[in-house]
Amino acid sequence: MTEDVRAEQSDHLEVQGLTVDFDGFKAVNNVDLTLLQGQLHFLIGPNGAGKTTLVDAITGLVRGTGLAQYRDRDLLSMRSHQITRLGVGRTFQTATVFEELSVLQNLDIAGGVHRSALGLLRARRGVPPYVEAALETVGLSHLRHVPAGILAHGQKQWLEIGMLLVQDAKVMLLDEPVAGMSAEEREETGNLLRRIGHERTIIVIEHDMDFVRNYADWVTVMHAGKVLTAGTVAQVQADERVQEVYLGRTAEAAAEELAAEEAGA
Ligand code: ADP
Ligand code: MG
Repeated sequence: MTEDVRAEQSDHLEVQGLTVDFDGFKAVNNVDLTLLQGQLHFLIGPNGAGKTTLVDAITGLVRGTGLAQYRDRDLLSMRSHQITRLGVGRTFQTATVFEELSVLQNLDIAGGVHRSALGLLRARRGVPPYVEAALETVGLSHLRHVPAGILAHGQKQWLEIGMLLVQDAKVMLLDEPVAGMSAEEREETGNLLRRIGHERTIIVIEHDMDFVRNYADWVTVMHAGKVLTAGTVAQVQADERVQEVYLGRTAEAAAEELAAEEAGA
């Protein structure tokens, strides 16, 4: 019983008092988060709220203070390649695939994180089963020999998620994966996240409330470096402070649109 509890605890990501200070400016300010396995967590909030910086700190790209505990390790004291090897992976707002290499080659390189040099040599003889599985899962089997550079925007994001699958990432932090996608691509992405989310801890950064509404199990709202509130979609939407933050944004966007229209007229 004690062991069961420990196994459960060690597989979720616990963030406490996470702070990222850029020369006195706290882009992330004392953030607490508990991210459970098997749930689709969404991290929302206006531009500049600190969402990307939070993910940067958890994945070792910027220095954070506080605690980010996963499998009894504090990620904040680890280098980014160690964090990847521990099973914590992320994607970026702009896709970072090797454009001139094929889909298959991109996946093979990503898989190298866990493979010995001998394994890499052996792998060249055929497609390893976990790469085949990742291709299937993200729906890119038929495009395996195509250079990643000619993939559609949505497909590049799916390839990146495939790269996390072959890395065996158990925690996936996805920075605006559906930005710029068509409605159809969004739906496919949401379903993909549901399929792979059962046995993983997935955190999705997203602005679009429709997407959040359709797929989120749990939502954390950030504003000015802090957690404004957290809860189910219904709870978060009913929160007046969230409406203020988002209405503020909408009013700003509307004013910009109007100004652009006037300038064009
Ligand atoms: P979000 O992803 O929520 O839009 P970011 O995490 O990118 O927000 O940025 C949060 C704040 O931190 C912004 O005000 C941004 O300008 C600032 N910021 C991000 N990176 C740096 C940096 N390297 N140095 C200084 N300020 C930064
Ligand atoms: Mg961002």
